[in-house]
Amino acid sequence: MQDKNRLVIIGDGFAAAVTAIHLLRKGFAADSLTIIGAGSLGKGNAYGCASPFFRLNVREDLPIVFSEDPLHFARWAKANIDDPEVKTSAGFFYRRADFGRYISELITAEEGFDQIQRIQSKVCALNQANGLWKLDTTDGRFIYAEKAIIATGNSPPTWPCSIHTENSEQASTRMIENPWAGHYLSSISAEERIVLLGGGLTALDTIYALAAQGHRGLITIVGPRSLFPPTQAPWARQKQPNWPDKLSPAKLVRFMRQYLPPAPTTSTEWQSAWEELRPNLNTIWQEFTPHQRQSLFKRLGWAWSLYRFRASPQTIKAYEQLKANHQVQFAVGRAKQVECSESAITVQLNNGKRIQGDRIINCTGVGKDVFLNQLVTAAIAIPDPLGHAIAVNTNLNVLKPDQQAWNTLWMLGPATMGSLGDVIAASAISKQAEQLAYQITGALNKPFGREEEKALNSTYLDL
Ligand SMILES: Cc1cc2nc3c(=O)[nH]c(=O)nc-3n(C[C@H](O)[C@H](O)[C@H](O)COP(=O)(O)OP(=O)(O)OC[C@H]3O[C@@H](n4cnc5c(N)ncnc54)[C@H](O)[C@@H]3O)c2cc1C
Repeated sequence: MQDKNRLVIIGDGFAAAVTAIHLLRKGFAADSLTIIGAGSLGKGNAYGCASPFFRLNVREDLPIVFSEDPLHFARWAKANIDDPEVKTSAGFFYRRADFGRYISELITAEEGFDQIQRIQSKVCALNQANGLWKLDTTDGRFIYAEKAIIATGNSPPTWPCSIHTENSEQASTRMIENPWAGHYLSSISAEERIVLLGGGLTALDTIYALAAQGHRGLITIVGPRSLFPPTQAPWARQKQPNWPDKLSPAKLVRFMRQYLPPAPTTSTEWQSAWEELRPNLNTIWQEFTPHQRQSLFKRLGWAWSLYRFRASPQTIKAYEQLKANHQVQFAVGRAKQVECSESAITVQLNNGKRIQGDRIINCTGVGKDVFLNQLVTAAIAIPDPLGHAIAVNTNLNVLKPDQQAWNTLWMLGPATMGSLGDVIAASAISKQAEQLAYQITGALNKPFGREEEKALNSTYLDL
C-alpha cells in the first residue's frame, strides 16, 4: 500500500483550487491534502484556454472567490490585466485566460501551498478498501485516502452523431471534437468554410475568435434553433419576486412568464427581472421530486441554457459584424452523421439537409464523465435525477445506492446541477467550496446549516 492521504481532491481545475484555498484558510493542514489532475492547477477547461478572444461571460464584479471580499477579482484585474478591449457598456468582461492566471496566482500564493501533494494524473476508478478510498490512476498508481472530494468539472464535448472518416490524419485537422482551449484556431485559413455544431456560448467564442483573425469564409451553425444567447446588459436586481406557495413545474413556468416584462431579452429591464428570479431557483429545484425536475428540465431546459448563459458584449459585437457581412448562416436541424473526405466535411441532418464545409467544430457542450459512470457501476453512487452525473445531498455528500450519504466522499461543481440546481458559474462553485471547507475543517464548531447557507447566499447572490 502506498502513502495514505488524509484528503484527496480528484480534479485540478477551478473548483479544486478554490476548495484548497478555503481549506487552507480555515486551518486544514496543507501536508494532509493531495490534488490529482493532469493540468495546470486552477485553470481547468474554462480558464486554461489559449485564445485571447475567449472572454468571461459575466462582468468583473461577478466571479467571486471570497464571500468576505466579493470584489477581490475586480480589484486584482484592474491592477494586473492590460486589456484595451475589456470595457463595455455592460461592465468589464475579462479574458478567461486572465481569470485563469488570477486563480493560479491565488492558489500558489496561499500559505502552505508548497506542502500540498500534487499527482499529475487522472483517476479512473474509486472504490472502498478496508474503510479507505482506493483511487486507481490512469498511469497505474493506487492512492489511498481517508476522504475524497470529486471536482472533475464539465467533461469535454464528444461528437453527438456517427462519424465516418476516410483518413484519420485529415480528420484530426478537419474535425475539432473539443474546441474549449482554442488551440486549433491559428491553423484555420481565412477562406475556409466552417461548420459549427451547436449554437451556444462555445459557438459564439469560435465566431469571435474567427472574426478577430479576419475570417472571410462562410460559417454555418447547425442546431435545433436559429438563435444565439443574448448579449449581457448592465442588469441590477431591484426587488424580490413574491413567489407563490406550493409550486409545481407548471406553476413555476407560469409565474416566471408573468414576472418577466414584455421587453427584449437583450434589455436591462428584462435581464434585471430574470436575475431577480434566479437566486431562489436552486432552493425551489431542490424541493421538487426527481420526476418534477425531469419534467421542468424537458420543458424549460433549452430556454434556460439560452437566457441563463448570456454572452459578453465583445463576443456579440463580433457576431453582428460577421452577420452584417453575410458570413454566418443557421442550418436548423440535428446532425445525424458527419463524413470527412479528402476534399470536404459533409454533415447529414435529421431533416434530410446536407451541409458542406472545410472544417467542423463540435460546440455541443458537456460530454459524459466516464469516471462518474464508474462510481455508479461500482455501486458507490447513484445517478442524479437528470441522469447527467451522480447524486449528492445539500451538504455535497455523495449518496450511496441506499440514498444514505457517504460522510467521507463529496462532490462539487457543475456535476451537482441535477441534484442542486444551477451550479455552473464560478461564484456558485466558490460558494460550494467555502461551504465544504467549513464542514471538513469544522471551522464553525457545528454543522453547516441553513443559517450559514443564508449568510453565504447574501454574498454569492449572482450564482
Ligand atoms: C468553455 C467553458 C467556459 C466557461 N466560461 C465561464 C465563464 O465565463 N464564467 C463562469 O462563471 N463560468 C464559466 N464556465 C463554467 C465553469 O463550470 C466554471 O466556471 C468552472 O470553470 C468549473 O470548474 P471545475 O473545477 O468544476 O471544472 P474545471 O475547471 O474544468 O476542472 C476540472 C478538472 O478536473 C480534471 N479532471 C476531470 N476528470 C478527472 C479525473 N477523473 N481525475 C483527475 N482529474 C480530472 C479536468 O481535466 C479539469 O482540469 C465555463 C465552462 C466552460 C466549459
